[in-house]
Amino acid sequence: MVHDLTIAELAAKLRKRELSAVEAARHFLARGAAHEALGAYLATDEEVTLAQARAADARIAAGDGAPLLGVPIAHKDIFVTKDFPSTAGSRILENYRSPFDATVVARLGQGAPGQGAGAGAVTLGKLNCDEFAMGSSNENSAYRPAANPWDRSRIPGGSSGGSAVAVAARLAPAATGTDTGGSIRQPASFCGITGIKPTYGRASRYGMIAFASSLDQAGPMAHTAQDCALLLSAMCGPDLDRDSTSLDVAAQDFTRSLDDSLEGLRIGVPKEFFGEGLATDVRAAIDAALQEYRKLGAKLVEISLPRTELSIPVYYIIAPAEASSNLSRFDGVKFGHRAAQYADLLDMYKKTRAEGFGDEVKRRIMIGTYVLSHGYYDAYYLQAQKIRRMIADDFQQAFGSCDLIAGPVAPTVAWKIGEHGNDPLADYLADIFTLPGSLAGLPGMSVPCGFGDGHMPVGLQLIGNYFGEARLLNAAHRFQQATDFHLRRPEGF
Ligand code: GLN
Repeated sequence: MVHDLTIAELAAKLRKRELSAVEAARHFLARGAAHEALGAYLATDEEVTLAQARAADARIAAGDGAPLLGVPIAHKDIFVTKDFPSTAGSRILENYRSPFDATVVARLGQGAPGQGAGAGAVTLGKLNCDEFAMGSSNENSAYRPAANPWDRSRIPGGSSGGSAVAVAARLAPAATGTDTGGSIRQPASFCGITGIKPTYGRASRYGMIAFASSLDQAGPMAHTAQDCALLLSAMCGPDLDRDSTSLDVAAQDFTRSLDDSLEGLRIGVPKEFFGEGLATDVRAAIDAALQEYRKLGAKLVEISLPRTELSIPVYYIIAPAEASSNLSRFDGVKFGHRAAQYADLLDMYKKTRAEGFGDEVKRRIMIGTYVLSHGYYDAYYLQAQKIRRMIADDFQQAFGSCDLIAGPVAPTVAWKIGEHGNDPLADYLADIFTLPGSLAGLPGMSVPCGFGDGHMPVGLQLIGNYFGEARLLNAAHRFQQATDFHLRRPEGF
């Protein structure tokens, strides 16, 4: 079946014309419609998708060799797209249409002047997410909940929940996600798929609706490390005219080193990632994965990331601070929702934002405004920035004795929908293992490595040093050659 194929296999079949882009797109659109109840998609448009597919078929017929030509993928609704609405999962952007494509969308798809040649992928639609990517469960989506295909009574993770659901349920062969504090790695872990967040600055943030600009990064979510490598190769590269934090580092073909040997690889195991908070079922799966790496020739070294716990307060000061500034643009004047009735300009701002933002977004705007206020800035924001630097230094110290770092992505498997109720702290605390790498700007990934309670997937987190994506993908690929966790699928999909 078409939905059993990896991106690599789909691309090959399309090139050989054993399958047309239109057939592939139709197949996935039909699956998306059949499994609508999972809540993966926020927007689809058959006409747009099929038009892109027909154009891809014409290019294939003309001998065009773009690497992802005709391959259908879907995008997290944090990326702006000119042919689909872009909402960031928020009411304040309901029905909003962007006049341009995000650089990542352009690079994977049709390309755009100045944004790089497109790899030729076809867009299936826009995927559900927590509002402005703030959340860990997809429950903060203003539009609809999303369910984990492994157990529909559980959350798929977040904020890239729709992306993880779409891939795990095979409604799309791969998807984009964004990761500010774990939003690619955690849903990938909870849904049993593979995802990578590159080094901060490697993928352009242009057209990615901003949450916390010093942390936000785009990355691919797919079944295999090989597919992630293919997609990431197309997504990365400088975009200096459009993103002021884009790094001037040339795009790279991450597939080339996938098969490298892991003999002698030093894997650092941070002792702080294996403390009391780690559930025993998750721990068992992670321990087994580490033993598998030993069989593959790697050496395990104990390391310390002493400020791991501090990453929670640090992140939940810095991210809201940046969010409070970024979200000030949603004022009802320039774009998106505007309150229908108001007395004057100030009243219009207030009503628009009161109606347009959900609770978690409002909470973060308030926290962010507070920690940046005169009199509190030094005590909170500045202090957090200093500790952020120390967290980054801790990693550099650790990389003195190891080549990459391994541990859990999350302390537990996916929890039940509604389980954290009205307790945002319960969500925040579960971010403990993804936040340190995010604050340091390091690349990180989640690789399916077993199952825990309720037969729910567990992901192994691999963290690399800056620009270590090729090594990460190589380590994940070799693991996937030796195990089959990434090939398991939820019943009925
Ligand atoms: N769960 C984290 C938060 O709520 C991370 C979200 C993200 O990476 N976008 O902020």
